[in-house]
Amino acid sequence: MNHPSTISSKLPKNGQSIFAVMSELAAEQDAINLSQGFPDFKPDSQLTKLVAEGMRKGFNQYAPMPGLLDLRHIIAEKTEDLYNIQYSALNEVTVVPGATYGIFAAISAVIKEDDEVILFEPAYDCYVPAIELNGGKPIRVELKFPNFSIDWAEVAKLVTFKTKMIIINTPHNPSGCILTADDMKQLTKLVHGSDIIILSDEVYEHIIFDNKRHESVALYPELAERSFIVSSFGKTYHTTGWKMGYILAPENLTRELRKVHQYLAFSTSSPMQYAYSKILLNPKTYTGLSSFYQEKRDYFVELVQGSRFGIQPCHGSYFQLLKYDKITDERDEDFAKRLTIEHKIASIPISVFYRNKTDNNVLRFCFAKSNKTLEKAAEILCSI
Ligand code: PMP
Ligand code: GLN
Repeated sequence: MNHPSTISSKLPKNGQSIFAVMSELAAEQDAINLSQGFPDFKPDSQLTKLVAEGMRKGFNQYAPMPGLLDLRHIIAEKTEDLYNIQYSALNEVTVVPGATYGIFAAISAVIKEDDEVILFEPAYDCYVPAIELNGGKPIRVELKFPNFSIDWAEVAKLVTFKTKMIIINTPHNPSGCILTADDMKQLTKLVHGSDIIILSDEVYEHIIFDNKRHESVALYPELAERSFIVSSFGKTYHTTGWKMGYILAPENLTRELRKVHQYLAFSTSSPMQYAYSKILLNPKTYTGLSSFYQEKRDYFVELVQGSRFGIQPCHGSYFQLLKYDKITDERDEDFAKRLTIEHKIASIPISVFYRNKTDNNVLRFCFAKSNKTLEKAAEILCSI
């Protein structure tokens, strides 16, 4: 079927997301899928029971627009415990249908025509389209390979009177690197005295390794007062398919965010909110996640140590970058596809997260998998 008039695309340069492309190819090729980031094991059975309990108890109609109040209260308490900052459950916590949605809604709430938004590449794929659909202009800064560190002097040079927002992401997808206390100091210095808003993507806040501290902007009052903080229950509770998360932001930013949210989804799934409001009462369900995933990272790294792949630093998230320059000089997109088709293992090429396709010959492998899956994957990688 063809629409009679020619549609002028609002995203002319965008095709299908790399996650959809690689997961489809993995399924078609019957390959082990370490590409798209999702666990291949089940969530806690207590959580699924709580969803059923919520349904039985009548949480089946629209939830309040900003989220169930009980859930917002427990989120505010958790945030205070972890980061020593108070957010008002009524006016500063908003439950949203996933972090991707939250990012889109936050950007739509504040970015106008010609506003500049500074972001770092490799950049998670949903930032730039959200900026562009709102008429904003992405201003890109490359993170320095191989530690994916930020040159703050370079960032400072890009700040203009048009800079409306800076987007940060720690732990970082796709690199697995994290921001340090010094980065936060530099960021504070940079935005001091300006009206710049920060969008802090912290969906991997509970997946951080080697006793490092998660540098949330919530720990820095001067940053928190100008920030949207984005969280995802999908990462924390092994439930990426439920698409649920929340946004913390001061009241003035939350007010604008909710104006968008009320017309985009209006509210978020009721029984799932009920379930999270109960499971969050036990902090161990999120404080134990770092050691759980650190074991997986260490196991995967140990298994691929004997291969020709080079192991890159990974301090958080559930992604491990592997360098393949000792194997081939193919472009990462080509190699990732060939690995899927010929060797039956799917990964994510990193160059797709850069506008100019910077290729450092690294691929991203998701280790949120059962040990059996990791063993099978490593066996293949060691044979290449
Ligand atoms: N930001 C980052 C950095 C992510 O990795 C992801 C998902 N993997 C998201 C946002 C989106 O999270 P959600 O699935 O809750 O939309
Ligand atoms: N965030 C997940 C990843 O990085 C994918 C989410 C998606 O498919 N959009 O793999």
